[in-house]
Amino acid sequence: MTFAPQASIDHAALRHNLQQVRQSAPRSRIWAVIKANAYGHGMPDVAHVLADADGFAVARLEEALRLRAFGSRKPILILEGVFTAEGLRQAMAADCQLALHQPEQLRLLETAAQGRPPGATLHRSSARVWLKVDTGMHRLGFRPAEVAGVAQRLRDCRGVSELQLMTHLANADDRADPLTHAQCEAFDRLPLHLFDALSIANSAGLMGFPCAVRDWVRPG
Ligand SMILES: *Cc1c(COP(=O)(O)O)cnc(C)c1O
Repeated sequence: MTFAPQASIDHAALRHNLQQVRQSAPRSRIWAVIKANAYGHGMPDVAHVLADADGFAVARLEEALRLRAFGSRKPILILEGVFTAEGLRQAMAADCQLALHQPEQLRLLETAAQGRPPGATLHRSSARVWLKVDTGMHRLGFRPAEVAGVAQRLRDCRGVSELQLMTHLANADDRADPLTHAQCEAFDRLPLHLFDALSIANSAGLMGFPCAVRDWVRPG
């Protein structure tokens, strides 16, 4: 009888999963989604094991700051974005990328950008923003009709250096649900040329739906 430590089994499985993602989406970059303390596996540990990911996505600013405090220097995406000027300042100081899914968050960026001289950044680093559009999940995100206008306002914000577009799949676990294809089609009707990079797929999306595999994938 052997006593393989549970953690090392998890580590091997995690690395294997990441390899699977690479094979399924060889031309995409990978946000390893490690929100909720890496789904209970322990965020610093998992971040260490998944060092081959292109970046880490967490839900909240606090998680992003913790990850930086643990020494991670990879790109970090905050999936719910920030909600206060101080949160924005901290996120920028920690060089985090921000999802933006509601008008208050847009106004926050605009306010921070106001009065800055041309070419100046918002803070030490420039802001890389992921505009989140609701293509059918009906939970978070701007409506498709709002995307062009919001993109323009973000382009007008001094200090926003990269503008990217993402959506979240509602039910990609069910390969028979036509909603996922409908979401991809709704995404493709958006003015995609306004954006520097695109992202649709979560884990189930990238395994089951080639239409969802874009510049970045976001397996959890
Ligand atoms: C949680 C989450 C993911 C990862 O989803 P999985 O179904 O665990 O792969 C991807 N993107 C966003 C925006 C998320 O909130």
